[in-house]
Amino acid sequence: MKKEDCIFCKIANGEIPSKTIYEDEAFRVILDLGPATKGHALILPKEHADNLYGLPEATAAAVLPVAQKVAEKMRKNLHCAGLNLVQNNGEIAGQTVMHFHLHMIPRYENDGQNILWNPGQSSPEELEETRKQIVQ
Ligand code: 5GP
Ligand code: ZN
Repeated sequence: MKKEDCIFCKIANGEIPSKTIYEDEAFRVILDLGPATKGHALILPKEHADNLYGLPEATAAAVLPVAQKVAEKMRKNLHCAGLNLVQNNGEIAGQTVMHFHLHMIPRYENDGQNILWNPGQSSPEELEETRKQIVQ
């Protein structure tokens, strides 16, 4: 289903032009307008889902095979040294466009990006408490 006022629905379904690097029945992969690095791309499902929570399971299962295809192209043709997959859910997590998208960010030596988090600390007891809370 398409959501009327969703910019990524319009892009994914070809109503708004984009720099498309891959397309199939279910997905369009486009270059990000504000690339973190050269080749920064977004995998967009054509069917609207706000984020991971609303994503149909079949779509979720089909996302990584698309990422693999594009990743191979990036490695071969952009000669990137690595790749980050980033996927933000909710404003607090940095999601600014409320249509599911998986970022593909090719990495290069000295590319000036720092996409990783600051590691914290946790005792075995705290980890166990957290484990129980999640699986309940
Ligand atoms: P988020 O912060 O929601 O995970 O990522 C949204 C991304 O979409 C940002 O990296 C932003 O640069 C990109 N973006 C926002 N609007 C457009 C657009 O109209 N076209 C394209 N190609 N990228 C967009
Ligand atoms: Zn949408």
